[in-house]
Amino acid sequence: MRPGKSPTSEQLVFRCAGPNCGQLKGETDHWWLMWPSKEGNAAVLSLCAWDDDIARREAALCVCGEQCAQKLQSMFMANILEHRARRR
Ligand SMILES: [Zn+2]
Repeated sequence: MRPGKSPTSEQLVFRCAGPNCGQLKGETDHWWLMWPSKEGNAAVLSLCAWDDDIARREAALCVCGEQCAQKLQSMFMANILEHRARRR
């Protein structure tokens, strides 16, 4: 017998991306997903209820709840303002 992971039993561990959070997602937790993207020249932040397919995307941020979502949103907004300030 050799150790190895079978694709069916592979367990993905999701950790909350919220600052100072790091909570791990359980089976029944109702989490959220956020991901930054580009719409033309605009940076867009998307948010949706947990979806396994989206969660596996590279850019997806796992979020354990509203508080962490708000922190990430605020970081995203601060980033944009910082970039704008630098452009001037
Ligand atoms: Zn969190």
